[in-house]
Amino acid sequence: MRILVVEDEQEVADYICKGLREYGHVAEHSADGKEGLFLATTEQFDLIILDRMLPFVDGLVILKTLRATGNAVPLILLSALGEVDDRVQGLRAGGDDYITKPFAFSELLARIEALLRRHMGEAETVTRLCVGDMEMDLLGRIVKRNGVRIALQAREYSLLEYLMRHKGQIVTRTMLLDNVWHYHFDPQTNVIDVHVSRLRRKIDGDSENPLIKTVRGSGYMIDDPHS
Ligand code: CA
Repeated sequence: MRILVVEDEQEVADYICKGLREYGHVAEHSADGKEGLFLATTEQFDLIILDRMLPFVDGLVILKTLRATGNAVPLILLSALGEVDDRVQGLRAGGDDYITKPFAFSELLARIEALLRRHMGEAETVTRLCVGDMEMDLLGRIVKRNGVRIALQAREYSLLEYLMRHKGQIVTRTMLLDNVWHYHFDPQTNVIDVHVSRLRRKIDGDSENPLIKTVRGSGYMIDDPHS
C-alpha cells in the first residue's frame, strides 16, 4: 500500500516510515502541513497518517479540507494530545481512527490493517488479483504461483501489483516510474529493467508459461498465456 505520513517530528516520522517500509508499504513523508495538504490532494494514497499539530497548516484543517472535497481516503490521526475532546474533534472532522503519541508501532500497524480491511469491505475493492496460475493476496501481501509462495522484496511486490492490476495491457516504463517508483523525472538508469528481470526470475524462472512479457520499444505486459 502507498501511505502518506504527515508528521513534523523527524524522529517519529522516521520511526513510522521505517516500520511501514519493513512491512513492504511505500511510505511518503511530508514534514509540514502545507506540503502534506498538497500531496494529499494531488496524489493517490491508500491511507494517510496525519499529525494534529503541524507547521503552516493544522492537521485538522487538512482533514476537513479532504473530507469537504469528497476525498474519503482512510486516515489515522496522530497526536500528543490525548484528551477526549481532541479525539472527538478529530473523529468528528472525518478521521477514521486516532492514536496518541507515544505509541508502539505494532499498535499503529494493527490499526492500519483494521482500517484498510474495513475500508476495502465497504468499497468492495478487490483484495485478490489473479493472472493464470498466479495469485496475489493484497491484504496479506502474499504471492503464490501454482500454490507455492514466492518471496518478494517490497519494490518487486509493488511492481508486480501494478502489472497485475493492468493485466493484458501494455505498461510503459514511464507508467512504472510514475506509479511504482513515484519518480516524476527520468532517472536515466535501467532501474526498471533490473527490477523486472529480478521479478521475472522469481515469478517465471524456467516456467514453460512465462507471465511477464517484454513489449519491444514500449515496456512490459503481464498476461495469462492460455487466455
Ligand atoms: Ca506535530
